[in-house]
Amino acid sequence: MSAAAANRRIALIGNPNTGKTSLFNTLTGMRQRVGNYSGVTVEKKTGTWQMPNGESVELIDLPGTYSLSASSLDERVAVDVISGHGMGGKAPDLVIVVVDVENLRRNLFLASQASELGVPMVIALNCWDVAEKKGLQIDSKLLEQRLGVPVVPTVAKRKSGTDELAKAVEKALLSRPILVRPKWPEPVQKAIASLREGLIDQHGESLSEGELQRLLFDRKSAVTERLKTASSEHAPIIQAARDQLYKDGFQPDAAESTLRFRFLNPLLNDVLERQSAMKKRSKSESIDQLLLHKFWGLLVFVGMMYVVFQSVYTWAGPIMDLIETMVGWVQGIASDALVATPMLQSLIADGIIGGVGAFLVFLPQILVLFFFISLLEASGYMARAAFLMDKLFQWCGLNGKSFVPLLTSFACAIPGIMATRTINDNKARLITILVAPLMSCSARLPVYLLLIGAFIEPKYGPNVAGATLFAMHFVGAFVAAPFAWALNKTVNKGRKPVPFVMELPHYRVPQVKLVFHRMYESGKEFVVRAGTVIFAMTIIIWALLYFPRSETIETEVRAQYMSELSQAEPVEATEFEWTPETEAELSKRIDATYLEQSYMGRFGKLVQPIFAPAGYDWKITVGVLASFPAREIIISTLGITYALGGEVDEESDDLRSTLSNAKWESGPRKGEPVFNIPVALSIMVFFALCMQCGATLAVIAKELNWWWAAGSFFALTALAWVAAVMVYQVGMLFI
Ligand code: GDP
Ligand code: MG
Repeated sequence: MSAAAANRRIALIGNPNTGKTSLFNTLTGMRQRVGNYSGVTVEKKTGTWQMPNGESVELIDLPGTYSLSASSLDERVAVDVISGHGMGGKAPDLVIVVVDVENLRRNLFLASQASELGVPMVIALNCWDVAEKKGLQIDSKLLEQRLGVPVVPTVAKRKSGTDELAKAVEKALLSRPILVRPKWPEPVQKAIASLREGLIDQHGESLSEGELQRLLFDRKSAVTERLKTASSEHAPIIQAARDQLYKDGFQPDAAESTLRFRFLNPLLNDVLERQSAMKKRSKSESIDQLLLHKFWGLLVFVGMMYVVFQSVYTWAGPIMDLIETMVGWVQGIASDALVATPMLQSLIADGIIGGVGAFLVFLPQILVLFFFISLLEASGYMARAAFLMDKLFQWCGLNGKSFVPLLTSFACAIPGIMATRTINDNKARLITILVAPLMSCSARLPVYLLLIGAFIEPKYGPNVAGATLFAMHFVGAFVAAPFAWALNKTVNKGRKPVPFVMELPHYRVPQVKLVFHRMYESGKEFVVRAGTVIFAMTIIIWALLYFPRSETIETEVRAQYMSELSQAEPVEATEFEWTPETEAELSKRIDATYLEQSYMGRFGKLVQPIFAPAGYDWKITVGVLASFPAREIIISTLGITYALGGEVDEESDDLRSTLSNAKWESGPRKGEPVFNIPVALSIMVFFALCMQCGATLAVIAKELNWWWAAGSFFALTALAWVAAVMVYQVGMLFI
């Protein structure tokens, strides 16, 4: 070992547990040294490998990593060593990638990343014995041809294949073979080029292609870390390249895996196909014959969705009732405790507890939905559903991965929009986010139930009512398709969609723990939102409905009511006898008058002409306006405006009959009923399409930006208005 300094250097890399250390021990025997990489605690293992031709090379056992993208110390060391910055500023002469035959695809991902760093490579197909035992047949010669580097089957544990490996390495040290590299799409090439120029021109850095890729694709790459110690001026150049890539339609964090696998898959497919032809067809594949079938697959899918939706409603129902009861109970306690201060009483009991409670009621539905989503995901079915949906979605710019977010949005758009983070095609992600609020979330349900119960059911019976409810759920989805199509045509015109690539995982029995963890996480996000955005919105709406409160109103209404009653049956005002009924009626009237005088009431009257073509009087208008922060507010607002007090719900026969009896107080239709079927449908359609959800807006702003949030607010509100007016005007033709 006297010539150690001149020794050539070979590094072993691979995923954890592929047998690197076993191979290292086999090849080096006792000639090993253990230390640390300079500056970090990562263990550095080097040894001397006596090659068959007599040459001794220095062998390095690098820490196991799945990819070079993450930024753990292990990955950093691997990137630094391979790119020649780790040990004495010299890149290894060759890398042996130790690959586990059972996970060929995933293992070759790392090999492909490493090859970009420009280092010659030999692949050890390790655990060959396991493959043989399991009847896996891998055509290593074909693989070798495809990849362009030697591929040697080994069993590190039993020292078998090591002679062949040594011979391949001896040859490769001379021929320096490089693994085939993907041809990157133009935006990636452009971003890489801009990085290269920026860093060379301004900072004299000359980096390899692979290092530039790490800078571009990794949020915190090893290369960035290394450059940072030299100067901080690289950060804006890197950020600009990543931003540009994003603008060109590739999510920088997700682009690499999508593109690299797209490149690797066809290289492997043949190799693996031969393998599966020799094996019996796997269970997953025969199930897929059915589940991915053009007709049967869709049928199974629709059936499954039907069960999911049924369960969302039926399972969650009792718990929702329980929450409602508890909210009512807490409201009662708060209300009793604050009797002395009516304003606080109203703020806390009606405003805060009522408002946040109305939101929390939907938690059970969201949990049930997520139970199913995570179940379907963990079992491997969701990937198939996305695959099926991809074909149905493509024409309007969505892709298969839009499916889960949109399905989720049927419970609530907030978790739905957050779920779009898995979509790596930016444009599809943008469109998915913008149409998600059109999916009929569960907050619309109370509105539908109230109006259908009051106007459709009495006239046409429960079957039509049920069908209407079902139809209302799809009004939004129906409008969403052309809306998405139009967005697709206008946004980032001319950019080709990123092809949908999805690996179909094997079917598995889901892990209970994971399923519940997922439910917990989504529930938590939802509750946090209830505690923040909804909480704030509720207080604002409450204040607008409560103030200003003139002291004289109560006396005026009381006097007015007494004179009305006295006219009916003359009684001395002073000895007027209040019965519980008249007391109740009086307090309703007082509430209604307060509301009419409130900022929101005045605003409603002011804005009513805009909604007149949709058939709304000022009270409905107030209800609609008050529901902008959250749709379910309309129930309690209609309750208050139509003089019933706020404590009504959509099941309340009182509210239903009051609505059917409400008459226009003034204007051309004075004396006619306010509500008829066209008005009811018009309100429902408005709620189906309008962006009445402050929390959703906040999430859109967070995921995209405030411009998109504002744009979607105005677009959907305008859309809702137009549709509501159309429904009303057309409906009136039939009356
Ligand atoms: P490393 O994490 O890549 O360093 O992997 P190790 O060398 O520590 O090996 C992980 C496990 O795989 C150990 O239990 C080894 O005994 C086992 N192993 C390594 N090579 C082979 C092999 O070729 N065949 C089989 N069946 N097991 C192996
Ligand atoms: Mg090891």
